[in-house]
Amino acid sequence: MNWQEILFGDENYFFLAEIAIRSLIMFLFVFLGLRITGKRAVKQLSIFELLIIIALGSAAGDPMLYREVGVLNALVVFVVIFLLYWLLTKFIEHHKKIEALLEGKPFYVIRDGRASKESLTHKELAMDEFFSALRVSGVFQLGEVKAGVLETSGNMSLLFYPKEEIRPGLSVWPDYLSKKTDYVAQTDVYACTTCGNTQKVNAGEKTRCSHCLQNDEWVKAISESASQSEYF
Ligand SMILES: [Zn+2]
Repeated sequence: MNWQEILFGDENYFFLAEIAIRSLIMFLFVFLGLRITGKRAVKQLSIFELLIIIALGSAAGDPMLYREVGVLNALVVFVVIFLLYWLLTKFIEHHKKIEALLEGKPFYVIRDGRASKESLTHKELAMDEFFSALRVSGVFQLGEVKAGVLETSGNMSLLFYPKEEIRPGLSVWPDYLSKKTDYVAQTDVYACTTCGNTQKVNAGEKTRCSHCLQNDEWVKAISESASQSEYF
């Protein structure tokens, strides 16, 4: 086993000092570049921005490690990518259709306290992820939510019903969801655990949800909101 090669590759250990200097220069390049684009923090990236970060990261890494790649080579890549980014951003500001193609568009996940029709047809959207997002926003049950939109940033925007219009709905908290059953003991209004639709379910009868048409597991619909709830 050649430890010299495992530790230093083709280089000798003097090159380690050079790597340190190269890394410092590249760090400054990337930092200045991101400052120029005006990005303050990277919390949620659109797919388009992620692509740029990956391209920059790849260009930034090589001159740090490889003797045959100079830092100016990477600088040229940076300038071209930032220029393209700037031009494309200007361009799509004026072309909404292209913007939707590159960045995606806001998507209604919840309408009127239950999963929207469009979210039921998009099978790749996982409802439990939305339940998690709803909990983060302090939602107790879906009947509080008039509309929920998944933004292109990945954040969820919620529009709440006024207090007097809150309806019974599906609680999105794990303790409730875990109580789901396909045969209910009492005839009452129950909530579908897949889409949040509420309907009357008869005791001892297997009932299919009339909204999503794919689920027959139910939990009792909860009528209060988070602020009224005695369960917390
Ligand atoms: Zn359903």
